[in-house]
Amino acid sequence: MPQLTVVVPAYNEAAVLQTFHQRLTQVLDGLSIECHVLYVDDGSSDATWAIIESLRDSDTRTGAVKLSRNFGKEAALTAGLDQVTAGGAVVIDADLQDPPEVIPALIDQWQAGYDVVYATRTIREGETRFKRFTAATFYRSMERLSDTAIPRDTGDFRLLSRRALDALGQLRERQRFMKGLFSWIGYRQIAVHYQREPRQAGTTKWNYWRLTQLAIEGITSFSSAPLRLATWVGLLSAGLAFLYGLWVLAKSLIYGDPVHGYPTLMLVILFLGGVQLLALGVIGEYLGRSYAESKQRPLYFVDQQHLPRARH
Ligand code: UDP
Ligand code: MG
Repeated sequence: MPQLTVVVPAYNEAAVLQTFHQRLTQVLDGLSIECHVLYVDDGSSDATWAIIESLRDSDTRTGAVKLSRNFGKEAALTAGLDQVTAGGAVVIDADLQDPPEVIPALIDQWQAGYDVVYATRTIREGETRFKRFTAATFYRSMERLSDTAIPRDTGDFRLLSRRALDALGQLRERQRFMKGLFSWIGYRQIAVHYQREPRQAGTTKWNYWRLTQLAIEGITSFSSAPLRLATWVGLLSAGLAFLYGLWVLAKSLIYGDPVHGYPTLMLVILFLGGVQLLALGVIGEYLGRSYAESKQRPLYFVDQQHLPRARH
């Protein structure tokens, strides 16, 4: 049994995969422990699977799983981690934004007794200021809203011990916000700092629409603050409406009641209508999620799978 398996989700990464494998194996060769690599092809439409197969031919430590379609990074990661029989696993992106050279530092902390060693980036090169700003805002709001502390500027790049893997394997929820799940399991966690590099080749699979969805995912999976917010907004507007009602009553008692007040009436109707729709939307967001959970569908399907041939 290998001591460590490196899990690499790959979706249309043909342009970078060979370079990635070279750099990764260079690092792994320098380690004193037995390491395997497991690629998960997340339904790529380019040559990714062919490249993974050729890497397997030349390197017996390499295994591969091909999913039946594109399930998204979180499911691909889960598919990979489910296969790990080693004593620990490293999760790393294929695009070289997570430098494989950090792995030895992760292993050091693992051997010092930590269960989750996450790599935290110190700078974000090759990313626009807007992306950096939105990322920072996201982490900050997560920190305030969620009960689970999610480390800032941390991607999925990390090392998991055997018991952390076992714990994670038990979380079968469909709405998988991995960064949150990694933290949620607890145990001894520690950060290792590194500099994030720009993507080597290929393009990011995340656009702002998908990132926004990920952010909503993160917030709704780990916090019910938006539901509480709807309650507070409702209470506040009801309180204001009551005070305004008193004022309207007093005014008509004192000055009589000529038909007036179309603008205020419209204003109140529109405002309350908007607030109600917003609250309904928030509830719908949670309802949709619990609907997805209640279907209990498997998280992914495997099309083909080859485990590493190397044994010792
Ligand atoms: N990825 C995946 N399935 C997807 C999207 C991405 O397996 O549907 C993989 C991708 O190949 C890469 C990693 O997840 O190895 C991170 O993706 P990307 O670089 O696009 O995200 P970013 O670094 O911008 O967060
Ligand atoms: Mg990337």
